Amino acid sequence: MISLPRNGQSTLLISPNSVLANALLRAIDLLRPRVLATRPARIEFVVGTQINGAPHLGTNLVQTAAFLLAEIARREFSIDTMVRFGALDNAPHDVVLDPETHHAYQQTYIHALGKDKISELIDTYYVEFFDSLSEATDTDYAVETYSGQQARPGFRAEFLRTLERLEDIRWWMAPSHGTVHIRIPCPDCGWAEKRADRTKLVRLDEDGATFTAVCLDHGPYESHVDPEDDQPYLDLATLYRNLVKERAFGRDRDVLHVMMKGGDWAFGCQLVDGALGALGTPAAQMPMRIFTPQVLAPTGAKLSKSLLRGQGKDDLPADVEPWMLDTTTWPGELDNYVDSLVWLVGRLLTDPKHFFRSFTVKELGRLMTARPGTLPVRAHEMGIYKRYFDLIATGRKTTEIRVNDSSRKKIKEGSLIRFRCQGDQILTRVTRIARYTSFEEMFDHEAVTSVNPLATRDEQLANIRQIYPPEREALGVVAIGIELVDPPRTDPAASSRHREQDPDGSRTDALG
Ligand SMILES: [Zn+2]
Repeated sequence: MISLPRNGQSTLLISPNSVLANALLRAIDLLRPRVLATRPARIEFVVGTQINGAPHLGTNLVQTAAFLLAEIARREFSIDTMVRFGALDNAPHDVVLDPETHHAYQQTYIHALGKDKISELIDTYYVEFFDSLSEATDTDYAVETYSGQQARPGFRAEFLRTLERLEDIRWWMAPSHGTVHIRIPCPDCGWAEKRADRTKLVRLDEDGATFTAVCLDHGPYESHVDPEDDQPYLDLATLYRNLVKERAFGRDRDVLHVMMKGGDWAFGCQLVDGALGALGTPAAQMPMRIFTPQVLAPTGAKLSKSLLRGQGKDDLPADVEPWMLDTTTWPGELDNYVDSLVWLVGRLLTDPKHFFRSFTVKELGRLMTARPGTLPVRAHEMGIYKRYFDLIATGRKTTEIRVNDSSRKKIKEGSLIRFRCQGDQILTRVTRIARYTSFEEMFDHEAVTSVNPLATRDEQLANIRQIYPPEREALGVVAIGIELVDPPRTDPAASSRHREQDPDGSRTDALG
């Protein structure tokens, strides 16, 4: 095989140093202090998106980063990971002004369209995209709507706890006027006061909270919130929704939730943090957040669909390509779009300097044009120690052993596996799959020499147990029969994508 110099593509991207880039070797290191402190059983990358039409590049970029970081974190920390997608179906669909009182009223997407139409929107714009990303990164995902989230007892109980401390948090949640926007839609029509002007908390006790509000058409009404009942609907303003969500996630001792947010969120999060502090949130329950690169229009404003308002698609701002504003217009197959995004975000992740910054549409257009003509064929990715890599490359090792985490469950007979070691790679095809409950049981059935021709069963077992603690082995063991697909080669674009995970060849979860 050929090894390419590490700096083979170093001129593709140029980024200045920054505070965070100087503190980190890899973007994923941002999570390390929390992972070491709390030793979670699983890491979930949480990404929320307003469901209000076709996504633009910025939205898909955050989502791609979530899947890629989940893949990287799984390898880096030997902890199972997944992506949790929050479909924000409470985005405002219509806003009207009461002509007499000038109070603003709004109706959310879920109230305007109903559950079936929301599911349809998610299917149309996200499910195939996520399925493709999931396959490209070996990462599972789950979808939950905001409507589903707010109906859950945990969310409602957390909301009620914040109401007990409303005086402590209201200036954090609403620094300009101190009025927290808790929208409880009218039970008759589903419209709610946009700024909660006349929504009042009139009682709070062990039975829950009682609010009164005034509907534009139906006059005054009363609503009672308790954890056991999924009615009334709770439409919280953005900062408040994030406060309640992050507080609820923080209570989960087994799962570390990592909030994935576009870079423009950095400005608002200090208010959420102020409220979390005012509520006495313990350090170990403070949210972990990763801010992703912002996509900027030529003016430096965040790329947004409002750029199109009053203009129309034929009159896009300079440098904005149509697919950047409506990614469904990408000139090619969906898998090609996803592979291109994975390549792009993979490039940004090669150095924290490139990831913790913003990009203009012009620069992203230039990068996308610079991507390799043929992107590497999709395969399951595995890091592996040099001695085992060499045994595979020479055809002497034909069985690979791993613990059966969520990414390994996707491996089937005929799947491709790309083994990587210190910038080199070998593509293999899976000839068979066998799953066992323990390494002992595995060695009762597998030929010891096919796993490693140079060590006895006892030696191999001892090595394996040093690499995998009992809780990893408890996931089960998978034995993977492999054959070489074609002569080993090094693809510079593909190997650079994984430099972050394997910067010096010393980090790998492989046992061989
Ligand atoms: Zn009403």
